[in-house]
Amino acid sequence: MHEMSLCESVLRLIEDSAESNHFSKVKTVWLEIGSLAAVEPEAMRFNFDLIMKGTLVEGAKLELIEVPATAWCTACEKDVEISQRYDGCPCCGETGLTLSSGDEMRIRELEVV
Ligand SMILES: [Zn+2]
Repeated sequence: MHEMSLCESVLRLIEDSAESNHFSKVKTVWLEIGSLAAVEPEAMRFNFDLIMKGTLVEGAKLELIEVPATAWCTACEKDVEISQRYDGCPCCGETGLTLSSGDEMRIRELEVV
């Protein structure tokens, strides 16, 4: 399951961060999800609670922030926002853009104790 492995990587990232930043309990996790990552928020929350059980993240609140996907347009020479992977450029209509971001996941912030 997609969401389960995402939650497992979130836990690993938090554990690494806990080691270097010396915290022992997490209260809130703000997670950025690219709009192309195909993450189901309900499934994400369900797996989050499951995976975090018995860890320093147990009982933490999960806040999901969807970030728009961007792609590089060679005609405009800039990153443009797209809503689907093979969308053309919204500014000039150019196709065959190179995806810059959109399917990744990133911890934006942690509220720790
Ligand atoms: Zn363009």
